[in-house]
Amino acid sequence: MSDETTKKLTPYQGDLRCFGEFQCPMCRREWKSGNSWANMGQECEKCRINVYPYKQSTLKGGGNKDDGPPHPSEMCEKCKKLGYCCRTYSRRY
Ligand SMILES: [Zn+2]
Ligand SMILES: [Zn+2]
Repeated sequence: MSDETTKKLTPYQGDLRCFGEFQCPMCRREWKSGNSWANMGQECEKCRINVYPYKQSTLKGGGNKDDGPPHPSEMCEKCKKLGYCCRTYSRRY
């Protein structure tokens, strides 16, 4: 049996937006984001490599709040895939 098609790139495998914790394997920079998704990474702003979160937890209260710092779409794999900001995507509930 091959697991190729169900490769898990992130700890969380659901459809909801998550709180993710990232650490770049190259420069060791750590950051957190309230716009983290299953099997989606974010770029390290220094190294410009895609980094997957080592830890994810679902957001409490529906995850549709827009507080926090502006979301850097150009660093976010989900935004790039969607073609628009993934914060907007989470509001369709
Ligand atoms: Zn880095
Ligand atoms: Zn995004």
